[in-house]
Amino acid sequence: MPRMSESLLEAHIRQYLAAQTGPEVVFTWQGGEPTLMGLDFFRRVVELQARHRKQGQRIENDLQTNGVLLDDEWCDFLKQHRFLVGLSIDGPAALHDAYRYSKGGKPTFDRVMAAVARLHKHDIRFNALCVVNRQNARRPIDVYRFLRDEVRPYIIQFIPAVERTNFNAVAPGYWNADELPLMGDTKAKPGQVDSIVTDWSVDPDDWGYFLTRIWDEWLKRDVGRIFVDQFENVISQLSGDGAQKCVSGQFCGKGLAIEHNGDVYSCDHFVYPEYRLGNIRKIHEGDMAFSERQKDFGLAKYKTLPKYCRACRYLSLCWGECPKNRFIKTPDGEPGLNYLCAGLKKFYGKVLLDYPRVRG
Ligand code: SF4
Ligand code: SF4
Repeated sequence: MPRMSESLLEAHIRQYLAAQTGPEVVFTWQGGEPTLMGLDFFRRVVELQARHRKQGQRIENDLQTNGVLLDDEWCDFLKQHRFLVGLSIDGPAALHDAYRYSKGGKPTFDRVMAAVARLHKHDIRFNALCVVNRQNARRPIDVYRFLRDEVRPYIIQFIPAVERTNFNAVAPGYWNADELPLMGDTKAKPGQVDSIVTDWSVDPDDWGYFLTRIWDEWLKRDVGRIFVDQFENVISQLSGDGAQKCVSGQFCGKGLAIEHNGDVYSCDHFVYPEYRLGNIRKIHEGDMAFSERQKDFGLAKYKTLPKYCRACRYLSLCWGECPKNRFIKTPDGEPGLNYLCAGLKKFYGKVLLDYPRVRG
């Protein structure tokens, strides 16, 4: 695994802290498997954060992990430094192991559940990050009850698996518009010979089915007791408190991504040369964060919305979701519609119908 050098790590932490204007600073460690960096790397991280922290800054570290390496020593450290752990787990054994296996090709479910037990033993607050793919999307209640009753995380996060077959070769937004399929076309679904998404990607209709089935169960018995980030997010929007998730916001641009070599990109989902802002050895992270290019990147989320979205009754909740997923055409042929649109409409339609009950 490529490692960030000591001097770059220190430069990143110093620049990142210096660029922050609010009292709360969140470092998110993700991409690949961050625990492979080893515990000493993270010991160094907290030392450097303490050294470069500005007066009054509160620092939070989020660690997104598959949990496989989390032993008691790791847990002691995470607890002591109040790391918020995001644990990847996609449902009960058969569903989790459908797509997640170790480098040696072995299933990982038992090891992840051992991490769950250890996190509870050490009383560490963790979130469950469940990637919703083509298979588990068809078993929403099994997935939800398993997470709620057996994993028992602080927050349940559902992340739709959406991956273009050519994602390695073409940067988001640089697709050939002529080749984008229309909404509803079989090419815009997984599992077809000519699909433009990988086999494990979630079907857009199933994404709507998954969220609405869970919403029903949650509404019946779990409101105020179980936190599902999609639901908290949409309720926050409807109550006038704004979106909590970037995908549901009107603009992008607040979360830069940094690679081990110091290269900085507009977003974690846009780590492509076309979206490289520079390198922290040459340009201060704060200058990149507030640069014109990054501002344009943020505004583009709204500016590039097709007419179909602008006229949509769910616009103020959806905002076209994440631009990395806008690779289909609207029914009247305009490119730039979100691949998940059919499912998003189904979910927001259901939420608007039920919202008076949530408000009580
Ligand atoms: S590109 Fe997607 S993930 Fe990145 S900030 Fe925008 S909505 Fe969020
Ligand atoms: S639901 Fe579909 S049409 Fe409406 S804003 Fe979202 S992506 Fe656009």
